[in-house]
Amino acid sequence: MSTPINKTIFQKIADREIPANFVYEDDLCFSIRDINPQAPTHLLVIPKRVVPRLGESTPEDEALLGHLLVTAGKIAQEQKLSAGFRLVINNGKQAGESVPHLHVHLLGGRDLTWPPG
Ligand code: 5GP
Repeated sequence: MSTPINKTIFQKIADREIPANFVYEDDLCFSIRDINPQAPTHLLVIPKRVVPRLGESTPEDEALLGHLLVTAGKIAQEQKLSAGFRLVINNGKQAGESVPHLHVHLLGGRDLTWPPG
């Protein structure tokens, strides 16, 4: 699935080299519980193909990015987040990005304030 060297941490998780709590997987993406949850439900929806960050995405990524959003909505339903949920993509250091492998945070299970910090 991925290159053997310089894998991102999420590629290593996808390849089962690092353990994680999976809640969903298909050919294009997977979802795991965040190791440092910021809400009662905090999942990451991660493409198997590495796009470093949204700001470096290309038209070729359109279908994949759409798939991530549709999948996040489906997972939110499965996780019974009908009261509300939030999707977050941190892009770049100033936004808090810490893993250079695009991922969508799916947060729910508590009141989420606005504006975010
Ligand atoms: P970012 O800060 O890049 O938007 O989000 C990276 C997220 O990945 C963080 O919320 C962090 O807690 C999570 N994370 C980092 N390493 C691991 C890991 O090894 N396993 C899991 N499940 N989550 C991780």
